[in-house]
Amino acid sequence: MDNTEEIWRLVDARKDAFEGLSDRIWGMPELQYAEKRSVAEHIKELEREGFRITRELAGIPTAVMGEAGEGGPVIAILGEYDALPGLSQEAGVAEHRPLPGAGAGHGCGHNLLGSASLLAAAALKDWLARNKVKGRVRYYGCPAEEGGAAKAFMVRSGAFADVDIAITWHPSAFCEVADAVSLANTRVDFSFTGRASHAAAAPHLGRSALDAVELMNVGVNYMREHMPSDARIHYALLDAGGIAPNVVQATAKVRYLIRARELPELTRLIARVKKIAEGAALMTETKVDAKVISGVSNLLGNAPLEQAMFECWERLGPPAFDETDRAFARKIQGTLSDEDIATAYRRVGVPKGGAPLCDAVVPMGAKRTPMVGSTDVGDVSWMVPTVQAHCSTYAIGTPGHSWQLTAQGKTPAAKKGMVHVAKIMAATGVQALTDTTLIPRAKADLAARTKDHPYVCPIPEDIGPPLDMAAD
Ligand SMILES: [Zn+2]
Repeated sequence: MDNTEEIWRLVDARKDAFEGLSDRIWGMPELQYAEKRSVAEHIKELEREGFRITRELAGIPTAVMGEAGEGGPVIAILGEYDALPGLSQEAGVAEHRPLPGAGAGHGCGHNLLGSASLLAAAALKDWLARNKVKGRVRYYGCPAEEGGAAKAFMVRSGAFADVDIAITWHPSAFCEVADAVSLANTRVDFSFTGRASHAAAAPHLGRSALDAVELMNVGVNYMREHMPSDARIHYALLDAGGIAPNVVQATAKVRYLIRARELPELTRLIARVKKIAEGAALMTETKVDAKVISGVSNLLGNAPLEQAMFECWERLGPPAFDETDRAFARKIQGTLSDEDIATAYRRVGVPKGGAPLCDAVVPMGAKRTPMVGSTDVGDVSWMVPTVQAHCSTYAIGTPGHSWQLTAQGKTPAAKKGMVHVAKIMAATGVQALTDTTLIPRAKADLAARTKDHPYVCPIPEDIGPPLDMAAD
C-alpha cells in the first residue's frame, strides 16, 4: 500500500541501513557543536551512497553537506543530530531510568530526524539517476539546533545561496504538514562594570554592577506588561559579581533570551531591553556592554510547498502502527497527565481521541494552537522556500525534551514514522522536480512574504558560531 510509487520503493529498499543509523546516533548522544561521532556516522552513509561531500560546512566542524545529481533545480533536505543534556534514558521502558554516564539523551528525537532526512535524500538521488532527470539533491547535516542556531550561521555563510527549495521534518505525535509558526529569538549578554570597594568602610566609593543587573531585571519586568502578548523574555544570571557581600560587586553579567513572533518585532524588543540596561547603568553609575550571542528567525510558511506536501500525505496516509506499537505507547501515556494529552490535541486542533498513536493525517485547515518555541529552520525559511513535515513517532501527549521522548527513540513505531516521513519528504522532492510550476510558485510566495521586511540575519557579522556554548 505504501509502495505504489517508485520513490517510496526506493526509500524502503534502504530503510534497514538508516534505521541502523538512527539507533547508532541514539546511542551516542552529543550536545550542540560537539556532534563529532554523529556527523562521522552521517558522513559514512553519505560516502556509501556516493554523495559528493562538503565537510565542515560554513566552518562548523560538525556540519556536513552531501550532493548528488547534475544541473537543474537544487532540492535541500535538512537533518539534525544533536542531543540534550540531562535526558539520558533507557530505551523501550515506560519508567524513568537514566543510563549511567554523562547524562545526555535524544530527548527531541534528532537521531530519527537526521536519519530520515538522509534516507529521503538517498532515495531522491536514485530517483534522479533512474529517471535521468536534471536536478540536484542535497542533504544538509545541521548541528546544534538546540540553542546553537547553527542554521542561522550556515545561512549567513551562503551555504543555502543556490538552493531552490528546502524540505525538513520533526518527530511528533501527529502526522501533518507543520504549521509554520515559531518565534524569532536572540540571546544577548549584558555585562555591567562598576567599582569595587569595602561595603561597610567605604560604601560611597563603590558602584555596584549587581545592583545594575537587579534594576535591569525590575525594569524588564515592568516592560513585560507593555509588549506583544506572544513575545517572551527570559533571563539567567551568568555572573553575580562574586560571593562576598562585604565587597561591592564590580562586575555582573546577565543573559537575556528574547523571543518575538517576527523578526521586526524582535528587533524592536531588543532595542527596548537595551534601553533598560542603559537606564540601569545610568542609575548605578556603572557601564554596560551588550553582546549578542546567537539568534534565530521566525519560520515563514510556503503555501505552494505546503499544498504539495499535503498531497503526498493524502496519497500515502499515516504510518501503519500495530497493536504492539499501541500497547507500548499506552504505557508511556500512563506516565503522562491528562493535561499533557489534552494539550497535544489542542496544539494540532483535532478533537481528543482514544488512540495512543496518531492514525490519521491532520487536515490542512485544522485550528491549531501554535507552538511558542523557536527553531533555526526559521532562518533557512527566509532565504529559501521551506516546508516541514511532522510525523508520528511517539505517544500522543509526550512532552518535548522529556525522558519519555528519549525512551521512545528506538521503538518499532519510531522507525515506522521515520521511514514513512522519508517517503513524504522524498515524494515532495519528486513533485518539485516534475511539476515545473511548483518551484516558481514557491519562490513567488516567499518573495511576497519578505517584500516589506527582507531577511536580516539576527546575529551580528562579528559573532561566530558559539562552538563552546553549553546547551540550553
Ligand atoms: Zn528538535
